[in-house]
Amino acid sequence: MAEKIKCLIIGSGPAGYTAAIYAARADMKPVMYTGMQMGGQLTTTTEVDNFPGYPNGTDGTAMMEDLKNQAERFGTDVRFGMITKVEFSEKEGGVHKVIVDETTELEAETVIISTGATAKYLGIESEQRLIGGGVSACATCDGFFYKGQEVVVVGAGDTAAEEATYLANICSKVTMLVRKDYMRASKAMQHRVERTENITVLFNTEIDEVLGDNVVEGVRAVNNQTGEKTEISATGVFIAIGHKPNTELFKGVLEMDETGYLITKGKSTKTNLPGVFAAGDVQDKEYRQAVTAAGTGCMAALDAERYLGSLH
Ligand SMILES: Cc1cc2nc3c(=O)[nH]c(=O)nc-3n(C[C@H](O)[C@H](O)[C@H](O)COP(=O)(O)OP(=O)(O)OC[C@H]3O[C@@H](n4cnc5c(N)ncnc54)[C@H](O)[C@@H]3O)c2cc1C
Repeated sequence: MAEKIKCLIIGSGPAGYTAAIYAARADMKPVMYTGMQMGGQLTTTTEVDNFPGYPNGTDGTAMMEDLKNQAERFGTDVRFGMITKVEFSEKEGGVHKVIVDETTELEAETVIISTGATAKYLGIESEQRLIGGGVSACATCDGFFYKGQEVVVVGAGDTAAEEATYLANICSKVTMLVRKDYMRASKAMQHRVERTENITVLFNTEIDEVLGDNVVEGVRAVNNQTGEKTEISATGVFIAIGHKPNTELFKGVLEMDETGYLITKGKSTKTNLPGVFAAGDVQDKEYRQAVTAAGTGCMAALDAERYLGSLH
């Protein structure tokens, strides 16, 4: 006999834990599966300065531990495990079946999906070693730490152009490295980059190595046409080559946009299936912040509660 759950939460980032706090306090007895990255993306960063309630900033892992403790205080059952298959009902009031770790079947009346997104990195050794030591995938999150300093942005799309112009307001100099001889960003964004005096764009240029032992001291760039190498002085390197929403599991089951983000209805967290809700980065390619993820986590729990209420 499959275990029956009123509210299943998939993922343990800020969206999942906030949904859990609200669902537990509404007596929905939520069960959360954390996935492999317990605590989500924030566990990969040391300093979080912009989450409300921490006047002196906090450490990402410590903050996620606080959220977990708060969710457990109201009775959330937090379990380590991956949801590996879903069979969602299309019927109002139908039962949603999921498989945990390819073995255990569960049945849930409501499901809150908060599986987040994964920032793409270049994958080179020096970059990976210096994540948290000056290499970042989020200018909004970490740009402030480089106030008045020189930084490098890698990427050629709208996100990279946006990150570069955002950083140009804070930093003394921004060097954008673009792999091809053109930018993929919209014309409007390209013009904004061109009009910003302290942004320099280097085309046909890639990172050969991020320099520094424990913190970023610069970048050795290589021109992929001539092979010429140059050193660029920088204390921060922002990789802006995109994010991948963690939605493989839901392909062919839930509506997604062309880049794989789950589509929610209007201002709600409702997906196209009744009783299935989505919160956090998995449905948000625009803001991608812990506080917005937490906000939609709250909304998902309220939506789930109202859905259950409407059935009885
Ligand atoms: C290096 C870095 C620094 C950042 N700094 C800041 C900052 O300072 N301030 C800020 O506001 N934002 C910051 N962000 C962004 C912030 O981390 C995200 O916006 C936020 O974590 C999104 O929360 P989420 O709950 O949607 O998902 P995530 O945090 O992405 O968590 C997703 C969760 O889903 C789980 N999961 C995935 N698939 C499955 C599955 N099949 N079954 C079960 N579980 C699954 C994962 O294990 C994980 O627990 C940073 C991001 C990065 C990468």
